[in-house]
Parts: sequence; structure tokens; C-alpha cells
Amino acid sequence: MQSVLAQTPIGRTAPAWRRGGKASGIAIPPASRRLSTVANFSPGGKVQHTWSIERETQHTYVDPAKWIDEAAIFRALEVTKEWAKDPPRVREILEKAKEKAFVTEHDPVNVGSKSEFVQGLSLEECATLLNVDENNVQLMNDIFDTALAIKNRIYGNRVVLFAPLYIANHCMNTCTYCAFRAGNTGMERSVLTDDDLREEVAALQRQGHRRILALTGESPKYSFENFLHAVDVIGSVHTEPFGSIRRINVEIPPLSVSDMRRLKETDKVGTFVLFQETYHRDTFKKMHPGGPKSDFDYRVLTQDRAMRAGLDDVGIGALFGLFDYRYEVCAMLMHSEHLERHYNAGPHTISVPRMRPADGSELSISPPYPVDDAAFKKLVAVIRIAVSGTGLVRGNVCLSVRLFVCLSFCLTRGLPACLPACLPAWLGDLSVCWFVGVHSYPARVLRGSTSRWYQASENVASSYNCYRCI
Ligand code: SF4
Repeated sequence: MQSVLAQTPIGRTAPAWRRGGKASGIAIPPASRRLSTVANFSPGGKVQHTWSIERETQHTYVDPAKWIDEAAIFRALEVTKEWAKDPPRVREILEKAKEKAFVTEHDPVNVGSKSEFVQGLSLEECATLLNVDENNVQLMNDIFDTALAIKNRIYGNRVVLFAPLYIANHCMNTCTYCAFRAGNTGMERSVLTDDDLREEVAALQRQGHRRILALTGESPKYSFENFLHAVDVIGSVHTEPFGSIRRINVEIPPLSVSDMRRLKETDKVGTFVLFQETYHRDTFKKMHPGGPKSDFDYRVLTQDRAMRAGLDDVGIGALFGLFDYRYEVCAMLMHSEHLERHYNAGPHTISVPRMRPADGSELSISPPYPVDDAAFKKLVAVIRIAVSGTGLVRGNVCLSVRLFVCLSFCLTRGLPACLPACLPAWLGDLSVCWFVGVHSYPARVLRGSTSRWYQASENVASSYNCYRCI
């Protein structure tokens, strides 16, 4: 029987982001890499997914256990421990990574034209870099230099900022690390009205934002229909002389293929972002004991469903702190390869949220696998090297980036426009980045203390985002 995947139209051009940046013309993988596995898996048998009903029941998928190969990841991490202590071997991988990121080939059909291929690392190469000791200053500097060279070559000095906009904090899930989880009775729940939304979006526009990330929890109290309406409202806000929101990225519960199509039809949505949180099944089960999110396979196939619906601009991510960061990075590499192989387009972005304390969550205060700054910097650099054509999303950006943003705001909009936005943050106890980010915390949902909301939101997304920067 022919698989559904085989019936899916392929050979689409890579999305704009894959062709963008300094390396225009980034090519898609050859056809021989696609459709290599039989698609006969249907997720979601035991768990009810009522937030978004599937009307296209014909879809089957490649079993995620086949492409998130846990045993292969553990094996790679084990065998490369010794390799990571061998500087020539590590440098060889870094040299190869630079070459692979900058491959330029002449097009055999259009003689004279060139394509630039962005290729990443193999699982073993990635695992070797992740196993490098963070105290080995020389090797770490080599890793950072390589990441920086690749980033400069592909993206230049481009930093893109977007502001999260939380629309509702009702949630029926039980994620142990999140303040919004159903069992946290201490959290006040609320939904932004249309007027609230307009007010928030206008405030963000006045601060110079053109891109937002719209978020909501999973609950019948705030349905997908409500969310579609919110997208319309956000898109309709226009503030003189600042203009409209150019790009609405979304981070909402997993959607069915049919609802992905409806989201795409709004023609207002940029990236569909969904974090797997952890790609380690046993840990996933422990961290998500109930609710629709407890269905690992349904969640990890969300980007597949988006691709089937033609929504080929997707983001993936893991919440660092839940499991071994080295495992999560390798798994994200596998996820990225799976999407490239089957849909000609890998993820637009990879997010790297790190667990922060959240109200009412003991686990978030002492994460099972804390990631210190040195390891965090390394993992970000390794992702940049391993998946070089994909944007990186970081929350809670470093002070230098915040200062850079403040400065650019002053330079582009002028001091008079900058002052009202910047001053409260400079004068108060808020960090510099809040001069742009604070309005992304809806005042009407907020009600409690700013810092409590801030801490909660760090776990589900981030307080403030920039991407394509390390
Ligand atoms: S992480 Fe998301 S799904 Fe889980 S409880 Fe928080 S808002 Fe709900």
C-alpha cells in the first residue's frame, strides 16, 4: 500500500528563511534523502485531543521511535567521550563543520549559477563536541570561534527580536515545571478581551515591535476558535506612526492537520513553535503525568502535521533542565533531520529555554538536570555548528544584547521616542531588556506581581526573545 507520505506533494521550494541571510540560495536536500521510512503510524490512540479535532483522519506518520532513536543517542554519547578528549579529533570536526556550512556547488542544470548548501554535523560529531570538557579553555574557544564564524557567514550581525504576548493562562495540562499547570490553584487565571489585546498590541507597536509570539495554554476555556479570532484582532491593530505587526508567530497547543490549514489560511501567521520539552520518553512521562500533553508521540508529530498542512515554517525546542542537555541536543538534531528528510524543510528555529523557578513548582526550583552557564554556552554553540542553517531562539537575552537593542532603539527612533519606553526600566528595578519586553506581560492577566508572572513565563517560553544570535 502506498503511504500517505508518498502521496504528499513534495519538491516545494525551500521557505524564504532557508534562502535568506547572506547565503542566499541555500538548497534543499536531494530527493534520495526523502521518504526513506514507511509511514504507517497513527498517534493519539489513548489520549483525547479535544482542543483541536482532526478532520483529516487519513494521515499516518513515520513512528517517532524510529527517528528519535534513544539507543543511538546514548551510544553516540558514550563512544565519543574519549574522542572529546583528543584535541586534533575535535578540531578536525570543527574544520569539517566550517566546510560543510559553506559548501558552494555549481548547478549542473543552470551552468554558471551556484547553490550554497548548509549542512550540519552527524550524530557522532555532534556528540563529540557536546562531550568536550567546559574547563578545556582552548577547545572551548575553538568551538566558540567556529560557531561565530558560521553564524557570521550565514546571518551576519543580524539579531531579530520578538515579544511574547500571553493571551490566556488557563491550562488543563499537568506539566510539573510550569506555573500554569491545572493543579496550581494559587494562580489567578484570566483571558485577554479584544480590547485588552488591542491595547497590548498597540503598546508593543509603540515600543517598536513588529514581531510577536502569541501564546496560550490548552483549555476549553480558551478554544482554538478564540485563538483564530485573536489572530485577526492582533493583525487589525495599526498605530501611527509605528504601523502594524508584521509577523505573528504562535506557540499554542498542538493542532490537527485540518486546524493547521485553518491557521495557515489566516495568512497572518509566521512560525508555528512547539517545544517537545524533553525528547526522553521516560522523563517526558514523569514531567507530564496527565492531560493531552502526556501524549509524547502526538506532540512530537506536531511539526509533521504542520508540514502536511503546508505550514512549513515551524520551530522546535527543548526545556533544558529536565534531562541531560547532551541528549536533548542530539535529539533535536534528529528531529531536524527528520523534517528535512521528509518535507524538504527543517525547522525555522530551535529554541533553547533553560528552566527558571516558577511559582508553585518545586521541581523548577531544583531542576533534575540543571545546566550551568558554561554548559549552556557550549550547547548553544554546538547547535549553531550542528544545525547551521536554523535560527536560534534565546530568551532572557544577555545584557550586551539588551544594551544593543536600547541603543538601536535610540538611534532609529530618536531619544524622545526612546525615553518613555526606556526610562521606567532604567529607573526601576527591572533589567534593561524590560524596556521592550514588559508590555508583553498583559496587564490584565498579570494582576499579581510582575516578577511572579515573569518567572512563570520563563518556563513555557521566555521573557524576551531574540533569534539567530549566539
Ligand atoms: S507548559 Fe504549557 S501545557 Fe504545560 S502547564 Fe504550562 S501552559 Fe500548560
